Amino acid sequence: PADVEILGRSTWTLLHSIAATYPTTPTPNEQNDLKSFMGLFAKLYPCWFCAEDFQRYIKKEEPRVSTRDEFGNWLCEAHNEVNKKLGKPTFDCSKWQERWRTGWKD
Ligand code: FAD
Repeated sequence: PADVEILGRSTWTLLHSIAATYPTTPTPNEQNDLKSFMGLFAKLYPCWFCAEDFQRYIKKEEPRVSTRDEFGNWLCEAHNEVNKKLGKPTFDCSKWQERWRTGWKD
């Protein structure tokens, strides 16, 4: 379980950072790359029970990749789904850029 938590925290940092640096207006190619990445990520994530649930989630809620903010919000909702499953508090997705891109205001 400790490994699953360390892996999880690092991975969310990577994923939210990808959202933060994703173009505001991505080209069709960039959108396809991100979609492919998320699909492959869900298959290869090295926590098998996490990966199973995440693959199911991605099938139900397809990654929205048409703008940075859209993807950031989609990812925040996906993360909240895992938070709920684990009994953790959910995150206010209107604040995803502040947390992962621009920094908190105070
Ligand atoms: P984390 O959930 O790792 O979050 C790190 C930081 O992100 C938080 O401190 C907060 O500042 C910020 N944050 C929190 N929620 C959001 C949000 N919605 N949007 C943006 N930022 C946010 N663990 C399991 O035990 N079982 C599982 O099935 C499981 N599935 C996972 C699936 C995936 C795809 C990933 C990446 C991880 C999964 N994990 C799973 C790990 C779990 O989500 C946590 O990473 C781990 O429990 C450590 O939690 P944490 O409290 O450090 O915060």
